[in-house]
Amino acid sequence: MAEIIDGKALSASIKEDLAAEAKRYEESYGRKVGLAVVKVGHDGASEVYVRNKIAACEKVGVRSFAYELPEDESEEDLLALVDKLNDDEEVDGILVQLPLPAHLNEKKVLARIRPEKDADGFHVVNAGGLMLGLPCTKPCTPAGIIELIKSTGAKIAGKHAVVVGRSNIVGKPCAMLLLSENATVTICHSRTVDLASYTRQADILVAAVGIKQLIKGDMIKPGAIVIDVGMNRDNGKLYGDVDFGEAEKVASYITPVPGGVGPMTVTMLLKNTIESAFRCRKG
Ligand code: NAD
Repeated sequence: MAEIIDGKALSASIKEDLAAEAKRYEESYGRKVGLAVVKVGHDGASEVYVRNKIAACEKVGVRSFAYELPEDESEEDLLALVDKLNDDEEVDGILVQLPLPAHLNEKKVLARIRPEKDADGFHVVNAGGLMLGLPCTKPCTPAGIIELIKSTGAKIAGKHAVVVGRSNIVGKPCAMLLLSENATVTICHSRTVDLASYTRQADILVAAVGIKQLIKGDMIKPGAIVIDVGMNRDNGKLYGDVDFGEAEKVASYITPVPGGVGPMTVTMLLKNTIESAFRCRKG
């Protein structure tokens, strides 16, 4: 039976360190680290995510600035808010909750955030930095995935990591981070032929697809570390991309859904914000 990687517990222990860092910042510079959270409209899932992020800020002593904008907010006004936050000396990190309503150009809005304040690590400058191995803000979910894998004590270097999914926010950056940890990385996606033939070779398997229980037990290499990023709601219940019941019989370690990757994503957001705050002071 696989050992469960407890994302909640890992997250709680990292948050203790982050709280100490946030306090050190406040004592050194006379104000709290600040994170601006911008939400436009009323997407149901976004409401929950934003609430969680603000609660997590409070927990570690980061000041949150919440902006709840109407569904019909104009792009001009949203960009003006981003500009204002870019210039606000109390704000160290800016997060614009995605998805944005269809009339707003997501790429344009994300590009407007100063890369140094890009708490989500989605800005093209940070994405490029990740690609080139330069210091940069790393996207939260992939950064959390690496922490979860490392928490097992297993070495990543030399392992075959298979990432299923190639989105800009999870799959691609996760593959880059695993590569920077010296894994041999395969990326699978919607056009991959015979997905199981790849997943069965994975020492580390990351599923970031968005299809309930796509990954069955017989698609997993015995002893693999399985990280399930999927969050698929069905009849009010949350399911991962991995069939947990089958996978836990084959894998050595596995993240549950909920309680695995999700809590780490929020924690990495706080880590990014606190690190940005210190980095800005160093100039
Ligand atoms: P996305 O829709 O942007 O990307 C999904 C990827 O899956 C695509 O690259 C696509 O090529 C691939 N794919 C689709 N069907 C496939 C198939 N049959 N076989 C192989 N690959 C296939 O999604 P995303 O934003 O990357 O999110 C993926 C999942 O992770 C979703 O369930 C999302 O809710 C969840 N998620 C969770 C967190 C968290 O913090 N826990 C954060 C982000 C996303």
